Amino acid sequence: MSELKGLLGATEIREIAARIGVTPTKKLGQNFVVDANVCRKIVSVADVSPNDIVVEIGPGLGSLSLAIIESAKHLLAVEIDSRLAAELPQTFDRHEVATDAFTIINQDALAVDELPMQPDVLVANLPYNISVPVLLHFFERFPTLRSGVVMVQSEVADRLAAVPGSKSYGSPSVKATWWMQMSAAGGVARSIFWPVPNVDSSLVKFVRHEPAGDEALRLRTFEIIDAAFAQRRKMLRAALSGMFGGSSQASAVIESAGIDPTLRGEALLLPDFIKIAEASHS
Ligand code: SAM
Repeated sequence: MSELKGLLGATEIREIAARIGVTPTKKLGQNFVVDANVCRKIVSVADVSPNDIVVEIGPGLGSLSLAIIESAKHLLAVEIDSRLAAELPQTFDRHEVATDAFTIINQDALAVDELPMQPDVLVANLPYNISVPVLLHFFERFPTLRSGVVMVQSEVADRLAAVPGSKSYGSPSVKATWWMQMSAAGGVARSIFWPVPNVDSSLVKFVRHEPAGDEALRLRTFEIIDAAFAQRRKMLRAALSGMFGGSSQASAVIESAGIDPTLRGEALLLPDFIKIAEASHS
């Protein structure tokens, strides 16, 4: 936790970008937050405490990072863009951040399997093109993560926090609940970003719960989830027929799990998929 010299404002953000020659790119989902109040709000929704090690995916120019450092013990910031990663220490220095309060990791977050410290909390304004895979990757790789908040496109937020039967409910909704309890935490105005995106964004909060089973069970369960949602308009017995060698074999497995094989995947919760995975190996 540091006493900082303010957070980043819109003028400073544009000034840094211009000085280091960065034009935000769509390819890397670069929409920077230019509103310090929103950054503080995100960190407060994430329940960051002074002893927490926080990992941030895509710190960019550092707006959210400074708000995290203000409340946490240490920030682990994973940034793929080398120009941004190289500039962050200078920005932090200007805001009087102690050098032992952060670690910059210049890597593709999807390829990060280890961190120099075990993270407690994840906070990020995620790059839109990898938001779901990178989030699930971090849930899986870092079991010390207790909770967090991410800002994503509203459509993705709806999917991550969806309940069975809703249009948004799909494989990310179910998979995320293997590790975390997911909940919607409100929308944000488009005007807080530079450049202003042409879609809405929302916050999603998550809190870890007891693991539903071991890694072998998770992998089997995820295979079934993928098959069920690959053909989401089909009944389970048809959607899983390829996996089980025919529709009647699939029906038998699904029924032995106590589930109606004429249901669609979109009607099932994670525990139902787990029962099918267990039945398929008994
Ligand atoms: N946190 C900053 C903010 O809120 O202003 C920037 C958020 S911006 C939506 C996404 C950031 O993620 C950019 O800085 C981008 O360079 C970075 N990024 C994109 N793909 C990445 C990846 N695969 N691994 C790590 N960072 C990535």
